[in-house]
Amino acid sequence: MQLKTLEISGFKSFADKTTIQFNHGITGIVGPNGSGKSNITEAIRWALGEQSAKNLRGGKMPDIIFAGSNARKPLNRAEVSLTFDNQDHQLKSDYDEVNVSRVLYRDGTSTFYLNQKSCRLRDIVNLFMDSGLGRESFSIISQGKIAAIFNSKPAQRRGIIEEAAGVVKYKQRKKEADNQLTETAANLNRVSDIISELA
Ligand code: ATP
Repeated sequence: MQLKTLEISGFKSFADKTTIQFNHGITGIVGPNGSGKSNITEAIRWALGEQSAKNLRGGKMPDIIFAGSNARKPLNRAEVSLTFDNQDHQLKSDYDEVNVSRVLYRDGTSTFYLNQKSCRLRDIVNLFMDSGLGRESFSIISQGKIAAIFNSKPAQRRGIIEEAAGVVKYKQRKKEADNQLTETAANLNRVSDIISELA
């Protein structure tokens, strides 16, 4: 799996559609302070399903939409699209190329797309879970993150190790199974109540 292309449009400082190609090897992005380098990594994290505006240095999610400049009016829509080479099928998809897009309007309406078909946030999160590139993975280390890891509590640090070890997926499934069990137990109770009423 390899991130091949990033397309940004209306996201933070990227008012115009901007396409960045990632070839094999290392790609470095350089620019003066405030030119939008961090916005690029934030765009990737956002498209992967980041739900916290704070993690994207904003107050609320629509803050990520281009807010205007001296020369340009604000925009009403942000879109980020990621294209992955998936020939090794590391992402659990039948496709050799996987495209993930996220669109947000200023009124808060937001949609995710998987290979151009609208999907749920959950589909995106599941697709990238334990792939090493989820929204909470450690493939994106932002400024201040290293210090935060050092200063984190043991339970939080355990979470970091679990994500790296690939057990998060199983913890999530266990939680879902536990919820189903609780629901089923409640249903059984209801049924036995009805049976005793009828008896
Ligand atoms: P540094 O090297 O100092 O870390 P950087 O190149 O990483 O800087 P960023 O932090 O990515 O730069 O970008 C900051 C710029 O993005 C600022 O000029 C800020 O005004 C602009 N910006 C952030 N949000 C928006 C928005 N919603 N609309 C327009 N511009 C925005």
